Amino acid sequence: MLPTLVMNATYIFNKWKNVPAPDRGQLIKVFGDVLRERKEELSKAITKDMGKTIRESRGEVQEAIDMCDFAVGLSRQLYGLTMPSERPKHRLQETWLPLGVIGVISAFNFPVAVWAWNFCLAIICGNSVIWKPSLKGRQSALTVFDIWTMACDRAGKKEFVSLNQVLFGDKKEAVELAEHKGIALVSATGSVEMGKVIAPLVAQRLGKVLLELGGNNAAIISQHADLDLAIKGCVFAAVGTTGQRCTTLRRLFVHNSIYAKVLEKLTAAYSTIKMGDPHEEDVLLGPIISDTAYEYMMDAMQAAQDEGATLWHGGGCYNNIDGSIFGPYVYPAIITANGHLEIMKKETFAPILYMIPYTKLQDAIDMVNCVEQGLSNSIFTNDMNETEQFLEQAYSGIVNVNAGTSGAEIGGAFGGEKDTGGGRESGSDSWKNYMRRVTTTINYSGEMPLAQGIKFDNE
Ligand code: NAD
Repeated sequence: MLPTLVMNATYIFNKWKNVPAPDRGQLIKVFGDVLRERKEELSKAITKDMGKTIRESRGEVQEAIDMCDFAVGLSRQLYGLTMPSERPKHRLQETWLPLGVIGVISAFNFPVAVWAWNFCLAIICGNSVIWKPSLKGRQSALTVFDIWTMACDRAGKKEFVSLNQVLFGDKKEAVELAEHKGIALVSATGSVEMGKVIAPLVAQRLGKVLLELGGNNAAIISQHADLDLAIKGCVFAAVGTTGQRCTTLRRLFVHNSIYAKVLEKLTAAYSTIKMGDPHEEDVLLGPIISDTAYEYMMDAMQAAQDEGATLWHGGGCYNNIDGSIFGPYVYPAIITANGHLEIMKKETFAPILYMIPYTKLQDAIDMVNCVEQGLSNSIFTNDMNETEQFLEQAYSGIVNVNAGTSGAEIGGAFGGEKDTGGGRESGSDSWKNYMRRVTTTINYSGEMPLAQGIKFDNE
C-alpha cells in the first residue's frame, strides 16, 4: 500500500512544484471555502470519532479554516534573504524550494487541526502529503478527504487531488512511513513514546523529522494575579477536551497566601461544568477516549495518594450515559499536595489537576521546569518583574502571561522543547520546515576573487 502511495505522491509532487506558489494558494483558498460550507458536517465527524464536545469540534474546524487563510497569504511571502557579499560584484542569496513528499502522522485528540497545520503549509510550499491519521480519527479523515476532493474539483484542479493521500492504519503503518526513503519529511504528532520510536527510524536514513510530542504543562497563580481571570483560564485549560490536549494544564502552583481561596474558587467552578453527550450544545465535558485512558487516570490518582497527596475533588467514573454511544465519562480531579510528586512528571492524558502551594516564585518556576516535557506554561500575575522572571526562565515553546496553557492561535509557531520534540508547526516562519534552503553566490565580476581573501595563485 505505502509504496503505491509514495509513487503517486512523488508523481504529483513533480507536477505541483512547478505551479507558482500564488496559484497553489488559490487551491487552498477554495479548500478553505468548502471547509466553511461543510464546517458543521466535519465538526460532527470529529465529535463522533473521539468524543470532543461539538463546540470544541467547531473550534477545531475553524482552526483548519484559519490555516487556509494564513497559507493563502503566505503563498506570496515565501521570502528568501539577500545578503551583502564580501566580494565585489557578487550576489549572495537564498531561495526556498519544496522538499518533496511529506508524511504526516497525527494523534487522536486533534484529528483535523494538526493535519491542517501540516497540510496547508506543505501544499503552499509545493509538496505533496501522505497522511496517517490516528485509528480514532477515521471518519474525520474521510470527511476531510471528501472536502479536499470537492475543492480540487471546484478549483478546476482535479488532477491534483492526490496531493492529499490517506494511509489508514496504526503503529505498523507509521513505522513504514518513517522508514521509507521517499518521504522527505516525517511530521509526527503524538506521545513521547511514539516519538522515540519514529525519530531514530528517520534518523537512520538521515531523513528530516518534525516532532510534536507530549506536554506536561504548568501554571503559576501569584498573589499579584487577578484571581477571577486566573480561575477562568485554568478551568478551561485543565478540563477542556476532557484533559486530552497536549497543552492541557496538569500542574498548578499557587502562592501560599491565596492557596485556600484559589482551591475554593476552583472547586466551585468545577462543580458547575456540565458533563454529558458531546453532541449536546450546552455540554462542556465529553467522555474520555477509552477504557485504557480511564484506567491510566485511576492509576495516576492512586499513585498520587500513595505519595501522600489528597484527592480533593472529582476523579470518579460516571460510566456511560443512557442512549449515548460514548463512554466512559470521568469527573475531572483536583489533587492537592505539598510538593512536586513523582507521578506529576508523567503526562497522564486525562483531566487531573495537581495543585501545589509555593512561597518563593523561583521555587515555583523550578517546579514548572522539573519535568522532561516542555510544551506550554503560564503565569497569572500583574507584577511586571514576576512576568519577566517567568518569561526568561520557563523552559517551553509556549510561555503565556494571564492566559491559560491551552487554546493557541494559529498565527504563532506551535511546539515545544525537551521531550516535546523541538518541532514548530502552524504560524510564524514554521513554513520553512517544509522547504529546503538553497544558498547561492552569483559572480558577475568577470574575475575570480575567493572568500576570506584567499589567494590561490602566485601572480
Ligand atoms: P499516540 O502516540 O498513541 O499516537 C499518535 C500517532 O502515532 C497515531 O497515528 C498512532 O497510530 C501512532 N503511533 C502510536 N504509537 C506508535 C509507535 N509505537 N510506533 C509508531 N507509531 C505509533 O498518541 P495519541 O494517544 O493518539 O495522542 C495523545 C498524545 O499526543 C499525547 O501525548 C499528546 O500530548 C500528544 N499530542 C501532542 C501534540 C503536539 O502538538 N505537541 C498535539 C496533539 C497530541
